[in-house]
Parts: sequence; structure tokens; C-alpha cells
Amino acid sequence: MAPIRTTCAYCGVGCGIVAEVSGGDDRGVVIAGDRSHPANGGRLCSKGTHLGETVGLEGRLLHPVVDGARTDWDGALDAVAHRMRKAIDEHGPESVAFYVSGQLLTEDYYAANKLMKGFIGTGNIDTNSRLCMASAVAAYNRAFGEDVVPCSYEDLDAADLIVLVGSNTAWCHPVVWQRIEKTRERRGTKIVVIDPRRTETAEQADLHIPVAPDGDVALFNALLARMMALGMHDHAFLNGRVEVDPDFWTGLDCDPGIAPKLFEQLCTLVVAHPRMITLFSQGSNQSVAGTDKGNAIINLHLATGRINRIGAGPFSITGQPNAMGGREVGGLASTLACHLGFSEDERRDVAAFWKAPQLCSGPGLKAVDMFRAVHEGKIKFLWVMATNPAVSMPDSGFVREALARCETLVVSDVIAGTDTARHADILLPAEAWGEKDGTVTNSERRVSRQRRLFASPGEARADWRIIAGVAARMGWEAAFDWPNAASVFREYAAMTRLSAARGLCLDLTAHADLSDEAYETMQPFQWGGERPLAWRFPRPSGKARMVTVRPSAQSFDRAFPLRLNTARYRDQWHTMTRTGLSATLSQHRPEPLLEVHPADAAKDGLHDGGLARIVTRQGSAVFRVMVSEGQRRGEICVPMHWADAMSGEGRANLLPGQQVDPVSGQPGFKNNAARAMPL
Ligand code: SF4
Repeated sequence: MAPIRTTCAYCGVGCGIVAEVSGGDDRGVVIAGDRSHPANGGRLCSKGTHLGETVGLEGRLLHPVVDGARTDWDGALDAVAHRMRKAIDEHGPESVAFYVSGQLLTEDYYAANKLMKGFIGTGNIDTNSRLCMASAVAAYNRAFGEDVVPCSYEDLDAADLIVLVGSNTAWCHPVVWQRIEKTRERRGTKIVVIDPRRTETAEQADLHIPVAPDGDVALFNALLARMMALGMHDHAFLNGRVEVDPDFWTGLDCDPGIAPKLFEQLCTLVVAHPRMITLFSQGSNQSVAGTDKGNAIINLHLATGRINRIGAGPFSITGQPNAMGGREVGGLASTLACHLGFSEDERRDVAAFWKAPQLCSGPGLKAVDMFRAVHEGKIKFLWVMATNPAVSMPDSGFVREALARCETLVVSDVIAGTDTARHADILLPAEAWGEKDGTVTNSERRVSRQRRLFASPGEARADWRIIAGVAARMGWEAAFDWPNAASVFREYAAMTRLSAARGLCLDLTAHADLSDEAYETMQPFQWGGERPLAWRFPRPSGKARMVTVRPSAQSFDRAFPLRLNTARYRDQWHTMTRTGLSATLSQHRPEPLLEVHPADAAKDGLHDGGLARIVTRQGSAVFRVMVSEGQRRGEICVPMHWADAMSGEGRANLLPGQQVDPVSGQPGFKNNAARAMPL
């Protein structure tokens, strides 16, 4: 067979792949990087390289199941529609919710959002991207008036200083890291890592700043104050293109919270290198102050004019392959569709476009609140698509209780035995990577095709098709009568005329009349272009906003004297339902490790290689101890991947509480109070 160009299944780098399929029943495939793809230029990391080891049918969900019995699609879709209708009739539309995923393709996301917000009539659709980068979304919205990432990967090639905040890029976005290393070789670019842990990325940086957890706002405020004192602000840009909150400058100059020598080194680098990218990720976002951190970073770039220029800008990098596509179509409960909000005229236009019988009146429940509502019995019907909240949500023991209590839990997924699927009343087999056909958007707003490599096994179907099947049974067939993925994409692209008409950057209207053939051969493209904010910020004034942000007070709990952080491993992905299938990938870190500073290990009687139990107010879990100088004293770190279905222990997300950022609703996975004891 001719090689097929597609996109990696994993992270938000969005690497292009060339797949050579053997064509036999064994689903053999040789994977290589796509040299022509702008995101990676042929490079792949270990996860992408070993994708071929994860496409077997082991553990696959292949047939619909209702109440434990195999059935056909008609029976399953009838059951979903009937139980959803019953919940709506008896308890109203707010008793229904969808929890979706950055693993969905844009076409799937679009269909789910349209059904929930336009036809069922509630905003109760949220996505696991809420756990990943909702704070970056909120920060961009506050500063720019739209969720727009104002950078491209090409900016990394032109930067003289790259500051990585809360990002172990070498492990979590390896191809971006390879790109940064190349830039460093070529132009001597300096690399700063701001992270409590001395990660593999920090080891290779020119300067590592082991900031205290949630110390980023103080650090960036102090840095901005220093830049202003040195006259390093961009007077023309600041005066002409930026609005500053009235109380912004009062109290900005504060203790940076790091050693004076490190602060001076940081200031020297920032002063000397105007071509500066600040790349931030989950370490910044997964915090009760995640939005403020994002705005503290953006403020520095706005004040110094280090934005909308080659090699400069505040660059949020996403975790999942299509977190961005979900943000665009409206998969977050806090947006309506296509970057639009819930004002009267936005709702009117969306209702008209969809010919929606009952458009939702406002935002829906964000992830943590959604599972609380399930637990309280307010949500009677929950449909989970392509994600595993029983493992990935914070306080996951509580989430399991919620799933077990839910009157109707529908799970559409690839794997039959996930921790979430075990609670399902109805299981729907979805197509996996290599079977799906559609589009994804990466961290730099680049839309790429995922293409089908294999025939779908068993009765697996595309998610958008499953959603359309349910919508038809609810009586809305005409609005969901798409013959193929291309027609869903065209409808979404046409809908962006509503955002474009309001001066927003999201504009795919050039693709609204794409033929099926053109969709099939679509080349990667960036919406908004390389400089989406070059001329006008999409706020009423046309100016960006510098938002007042201040450090929050840290609490200390004597019963739980350690601060617990969670992290990801280089060769694992989310809850390991895919990467766990690869023997090669499992060799890197075969079990979950508790990283602890030697002084804390000695104090708590922990030994390198021994076992320890970590306890928080939410739960406890067991890990293998790794004593490490890379941890700050008083802080520990565990990986987030392991699930009961994999190991029965080491479930990190039993430990964090349900606290969220008040603006974005993103959970604070980092900086949780904990204690450790040897086993
Ligand atoms: Fe896939 Fe991300 Fe690795 Fe690229 S960097 S190959 S997108 S996992």
C-alpha cells in the first residue's frame, strides 16, 4: 500500500507521521516522521515511534453492550436515546451531561457540542482538557479577548531566550525540545527552566530556578517590576496597544521568592534577550492560581512588547493531540461554540446557524463540578467519551463513587476494561487512532488530518457517527445527517464565519466549501496565520489587557507537612490504556516512583527502592521510593499514569483534592498537602 500521511495520537506537538501499512490482518504498520510536516520536520519521540506496537486488538471494545449484554448498534443507540430522553423529561436538560476528551477529533467534538448545547439545551459538556490547559485559555481570554495562542513553533527557531515554566519539555513534548536544542546549537539560545523540580529538562538548561510551588506569580511580577525600573518596557506598544488595570502597578514589586543571585541571573538574561519565548504547560496550569500565572507571564510580554514579533511571545503548549480542536468548536462548558460566548446576540446567531430548537442559556458545569453533580444525583445521565475520569480526575475515589451512583453511565471508548468502563451501563465501541478519519489542531493552531490506516475492527464506529445516531433517535436527524467526516468539518468551518464576523481570529471559512477530495488531501494549515494578533486584539478597544495578579497566601497543615506534585513520564501517556500495550515503552519506568529529597526520606524513614504510602485528606496510594536531590526539601512528586486496571496501586489521582482555579475551573493537581510513611 502507498504510505499514508497522518498525525500522531499523543501530545499537542501534533507531529506528522508517514505510516506504511502491511495490508495483512495483523495490522502491521511501519511508522516514520513526516519530513514535510511543519510541526516536526520528520522528527518523532519514543511514543510516536512505537505507535505501531499499540494498534493491536488486545483489550479492545468491539461490540455495543447494554446492561452487561452484547447487543447491536440499533439496540444500543435506542437505549442511549431512550434513557437520555427519560432523564430530560423527568428532571430537565440539566440532568444530562457529556464528559469528552482531547483524544476526540474535531469532527467528534463538533457533533457532541452541537447536540448538547443546541438540541438538548444545556451547557453541560466539558472536556478532560479542563485538566490540562483551561487556565491558559482563561488567561488568553482575559488578556486578548480570545483564546488565541500568539506563537508558532517557528518562533522557537528564532528565539534568543526560551523560558520554560512548569514544563518538563524534554519528556512531555520531546519534539519541541529537540527543536529548542537545535535552536540552541544554531544561535546560542539561552534556556531557563522555572520548575520546583530539577527535571530532565532543567538538567540541560542554562539556568534552573527551583521556584516554590505556586511561586510563579510573585516571580513574574517581580521580574516585570525590575524590567520597568530598568526602562525595559516598550513605551509605544504599552501606550498604543495595551490597557492596564487601574491598580496594576500598586504592589507589583514584590519578593520574587527565589535566591537573590538566581533572580539577578534571570533578570540579566531577560534584559539581554528581547527575542524571548515563555513556554508554559501543566506545571503552571494545574494550579488554583493557574490563570493568574498565565496572566503574569502574558503581562511581562505585553509590557515589553515581546509579542506579535518573530521569536517572541507567551506560548502555552497543550498536552493532548486535539485539546485545541475542542477549544475551537466549543467543547469546554465555558464557551458556546467557535470561540463565542453566551451573550444574547451570540446565542441568537448560533441558534440560527444550527437551527437549534433549544439553545442552552449559559455555561454548563466544568469537570469537577460536573462530577460533584453526578455524585449528588443532580446529573442522572452521563456520557463519557474517549477518556478515563475514574483515573484521571483529582480525588478520583470520589469520582468512582459518582460513576457508580449515576443512574445511566454511557461510555464510548476503544478499550473495554478501563476503570471508567467498568461502571458503565452502556458501552459503545469507538474507532481508535489508525481507524479514525478527521482533523486535529496542535499547540500552534495548526490543523492536520488524522487518516484511516486500518479497517475498523468488530463494530467500532466513529464518535461523530455514534453521536449523530443518538441525535437521530431523539428526533433531530436532519441536523445531524452528515454522510462523512468531511461534511462535519465543512459545517464547522462554515460556522466560524460567526467568530470571524466579530473580529475574532478563529476563521476557517476558506475551508467551508472544501470538496471531499480536497478534505482527503488536505495539507496542514494554521488558522490565524503565524501572527494572529499582529494588527488588532479582539477586545472592544482593540487593545490587549494587562490583568492585575497577586501572589496567593500559602497554607500549611501540620498533619500533612509535605507538598505533593504530580508529573508525567517520558514514555507513558495519560492512563496508559495505549502506551501500556507497548513493551518497549514500558521499559523506561516500569512502575510509579515517589521522588523525595534525601533529608525528607531520612526524616520519614523512607529508603531508596523501598515502598512508601502517601496519604492526603482525599486518599492514599503506594509508590516505590526514589530518593532524589532533584526534589526540593518538603516536596514530593509522583507520576499520574497508573490505574487500577494496570497495577492496583500507585494511583496518584486518588491524592489531590477538588480545589480548582476560581477563574478557569482547572483542578489544582499540584501543591497538595500530604505525608509519607514507609511500608
Ligand atoms: Fe507524538 Fe508528541 Fe512525540 Fe510528536 S512529540 S511524536 S506528537 S508524542
